[in-house]
Amino acid sequence: MTSSLFTINVADLVGRDAPAREAHIEVPVDWGVELSKIQRDPPLTADLTLSHLPSGILVRGMLRFRVEHTCRRCLTHYREEASHHVTGLFEVDPDEEAYPIDGVEIDLEPFLRDEALLALPLLPECPDGCATVVTTPETDLNTDLPDQASEVDSPFAALRDLLPPGE
Ligand SMILES: [Zn+2]
Repeated sequence: MTSSLFTINVADLVGRDAPAREAHIEVPVDWGVELSKIQRDPPLTADLTLSHLPSGILVRGMLRFRVEHTCRRCLTHYREEASHHVTGLFEVDPDEEAYPIDGVEIDLEPFLRDEALLALPLLPECPDGCATVVTTPETDLNTDLPDQASEVDSPFAALRDLLPPGE
């Protein structure tokens, strides 16, 4: 049986009606999706309550982590402290909704990983609007276009002027 920082001994809770107890987890992780990466520092933490159920163990609590997003519009990186309520069921013979109890231990990693990734946005965007995307010449104070003609609403209009003719 392999133990990790995510493994908890639950001998006291399996098959007997024991009082619920707390568990605290603190682990640096490298989880993420394409545009959102959970940071190793500070480590991900989980404050959990483990409760006996006739069918297994119920794990509930709060997951906290720092995540670095890449805005899908302007590609700026920004960081966010995320917290997410989690609820998971662990069973000796798990069905599709549950995670396994392995002897007297549960491995919280697949459960917490699923929950953390679910909490990440599919398409992150700057929370206060993008600072660097040019929309119209009226609202953009940084532009230095020599000629505000027909293509000023395209952020690539200025780039086009830099290309040699014919490209
Ligand atoms: Zn942005």
